[in-house]
Amino acid sequence: MSELEKRLKEIVGTENVLTKIADVYPYGFDGTATLKQRPAAVVFPANSEEVSALVKLAQGLKTPIVTRGSGTGLSGGSVPVVGCIVLCLLRMDSILELDTANLTLFAESGVVTQKIFETAESAGLFYPPDPGSMKVSTIGGNVAENSGGLRGLKYGVTRDYVMGMEVVLADGSICWLGNKCVKDVAGYNLKDLFIGSEGTLGIITKTLLKLLPKPGARETLLVTYDRMEKAADTVSAIIANQIIPCTLEFLDRKTIQCVEDFAKVGLPLDADAVLLIESDGHSAAVADEAARIEEIAKQNEALKVVRTSDPVEAAKLATARRSAFSALARIRPTTILEDATVPRSELGKMIRFIQDLAARTGLEIATFGHFGDGNLHPTFLTDERDEEEMHRVEEAMKEIFDYALSLGGTITGEHGVGLAKKGFLEQQLGGDSYALLGMIKKSLDPMGILNPGKIF
Ligand SMILES: Cc1cc2nc3c(=O)[nH]c(=O)nc-3n(C[C@H](O)[C@H](O)[C@H](O)COP(=O)(O)OP(=O)(O)OC[C@H]3O[C@@H](n4cnc5c(N)ncnc54)[C@H](O)[C@@H]3O)c2cc1C
Repeated sequence: MSELEKRLKEIVGTENVLTKIADVYPYGFDGTATLKQRPAAVVFPANSEEVSALVKLAQGLKTPIVTRGSGTGLSGGSVPVVGCIVLCLLRMDSILELDTANLTLFAESGVVTQKIFETAESAGLFYPPDPGSMKVSTIGGNVAENSGGLRGLKYGVTRDYVMGMEVVLADGSICWLGNKCVKDVAGYNLKDLFIGSEGTLGIITKTLLKLLPKPGARETLLVTYDRMEKAADTVSAIIANQIIPCTLEFLDRKTIQCVEDFAKVGLPLDADAVLLIESDGHSAAVADEAARIEEIAKQNEALKVVRTSDPVEAAKLATARRSAFSALARIRPTTILEDATVPRSELGKMIRFIQDLAARTGLEIATFGHFGDGNLHPTFLTDERDEEEMHRVEEAMKEIFDYALSLGGTITGEHGVGLAKKGFLEQQLGGDSYALLGMIKKSLDPMGILNPGKIF
């Protein structure tokens, strides 16, 4: 038994350490195609004190430590570093408090996001962030990636619901940041520094989340178009009419065809674009908003509008969007889901660019995403064994990011930088801002043991 294995077992117990190649192999990946690396060990701590002891050990041995929730990340954030310890938080899965007086929920980082949503709902409350992976991903991973979701347009992203957190720093100290106060401007806002820091600044062990009252009613619309421009115009008109629906999602022609083949939702196969729109809130307001959206869709020459307030029918319509990734993943051996985001007024240009790029390069690229947020997921259907094709994919991705940046966009709206996009970050931020990020990292993790090589 190596010295590392012995010391890890002393901290978390023999049964919570994996070192055999076959055991650690599954922890060499996250949800990002083509990235993998075997860790030296995988450990499953039970509490913050064990996390702290593990970080102190890693410091002493100068061994990198890569935090992991469920490994659903799409930018390679929890892919191990050579010889590292993977710190998997899935045993820390308790909901510690549901405070219905203050509308907060306090949970350990390994809690699966869906459980947060369901616990809030059981008390008539609402946790809005809903990443497509919420049945699997952890709240710690969501906070570390600042994940978004289908309800982001109206309700924002994970950051908007984090009131406080416990974080273990690179020297092993355990810090508490934030509180239950709705207003608090004491000192620097350190909590926000850790949200979206992708495991590079500290290990988030517990999170205090804000909850909302549960919306009383919901209506869903599925709208189809024969031209993508009409869908884009509908989105602009909805926003210009000062309507902010809860959800405003988009599927392109290729995605529609794959979803229909997979889920048989009844989408017209000759449609060029589909919008999934959800309105929620007070029943009278929802009925009014849905009617106005339907009217705007028709003014913009929608082929068909299906509208329902029946939850079963609504869930069926939402399948069209929620199954997009799985439907596309069936087409070719390797699916690479990207995450470019542009100001909403530039969406039409961005989608046309991606479609022209696919025609020009001969690559299969399907696009779906959070149209209301300007957040698109151009998805490459490819085969990682074909080196020539993968080279073209890389070149095409670069073109997508360059074009998004030229439109005032960002290289990632929700999946993070991780390993996959670190080559583009300086281009987006500019030299001085990028250097500032490096200074923050250096002051919080001077020895560079926390998820090294990610973001930078
Ligand atoms: C089918 C599918 C759909 C998805 N849909 C969405 C979506 O709609 N919106 C969206 O934003 N993302 C989406 N994702 C991406 C992914 O689910 C999110 O990034 C999610 O937040 C990752 O959570 P996780 O628990 O799997 O974290 P992991 O993948 O294990 O880790 C992600 C990153 O966070 C770090 N990390 C994890 N836990 C902690 C912690 N406690 N403290 C510090 N750092 C930590 C890791 O080191 C890594 O850098 C999707 C992924 C898939 C596969």
